[in-house]
Amino acid sequence: MARDYYDALGVSRDAGQEEIKEAYREKARELHPDASDRDDAEERFKEVQKAYDVLGDEEKREAYDQMGHQRFQEAEKQGFDPGEQGGAAGGVGGGGFPGGAAGGFDLGDLFGDLFDMGGRGRGGTQRKRVSLSLEEVYSGATREVTVEGDVDCPDCDGVGADSRDDVTRCPGCDGAGQVRQRQRTPFGETTTVTACPRCDGTGRRVEDPCSRCRGEGKVTDSVSRRVEIPAGVEDGTALQAEIGGQEVLIEIQVEDHEVFERDDSDLHLRRPVTFPQAVFGDNVRVQTIDGEADVEVPAGSQSGEKLRMRGKGLPRLRGGGRGDQYVHLQVAVPDPDNLSSEEREALKEFAEAGGREIEDDGLFDRLKRGVFN
Ligand SMILES: [Zn+2]
Ligand SMILES: [Zn+2]
Repeated sequence: MARDYYDALGVSRDAGQEEIKEAYREKARELHPDASDRDDAEERFKEVQKAYDVLGDEEKREAYDQMGHQRFQEAEKQGFDPGEQGGAAGGVGGGGFPGGAAGGFDLGDLFGDLFDMGGRGRGGTQRKRVSLSLEEVYSGATREVTVEGDVDCPDCDGVGADSRDDVTRCPGCDGAGQVRQRQRTPFGETTTVTACPRCDGTGRRVEDPCSRCRGEGKVTDSVSRRVEIPAGVEDGTALQAEIGGQEVLIEIQVEDHEVFERDDSDLHLRRPVTFPQAVFGDNVRVQTIDGEADVEVPAGSQSGEKLRMRGKGLPRLRGGGRGDQYVHLQVAVPDPDNLSSEEREALKEFAEAGGREIEDDGLFDRLKRGVFN
């Protein structure tokens, strides 16, 4: 069972570097596997080396003090090296690490904890729904997304008091935020680690605390960020963003469109054509997601046939390019009440000329071949 590094070296939490070094030398001599005949000498020796490696380095020691033994070890396992990353910590207050993880370890998480100094855990992932029109799916969009988050207290600039001198390490836990309690049980002595009652786990003691944040340095407030939504997103797409130091899942909702129906990156729309246009063919204007375009209706088109307009669909979220647009033709049957007398005469002539009946069986052949859809 790994012990607190101070315990391992047998020094107090306020020991100076000289004392730590001396304690290490002594322990190392005593526990060196070649010199000691204790069963656990090798293990203890490694423990002491590890303890000195951390406490003998001011930067690492500071991180260790702030995080506590267990969390420091977990962080180290995940690749945290305070010697290397220490410089980056200063940037945290500015808000926002570049997204993503370094070596499978989320730096934002770690430094978020560092800043809380071992106190409150951060809330879970927040979810926000963003509604987009199909036009915005085509062009991409930006949205101001607002969540409730911890922000630096505006009254004290995040210090928690008038001056930084008023903020010191909690004497109850020496800044660790945690205290160990030894308890005797029938099975021996056990140690439990709990949040320090004197500082509520913050590790800080604040003289004359700021009244607005009660010394915490943080207040809950709305945090906003403009989020870029890439073109081509689908209904239900979830985008991750970091807003005010917290992870936010942005769920995309795409509104129905009055003209277009969407199928992945393809768009479909209906286009009525007149009976003569269907018979003789025509060049017609159709709406597209980025303006109007011409499409050629071939002579002899039937109602329900679809014309493909390549590359006139939506951008593909992955892989680039655009989908296609499909124009579903609807041959409009004229309303007899709205026919001019000229049109009525022409249609009558058409009927009398033989157009009254669909006599050839070609239609049924084509139906069977599935030409109509
Ligand atoms: Zn404390
Ligand atoms: Zn304040």
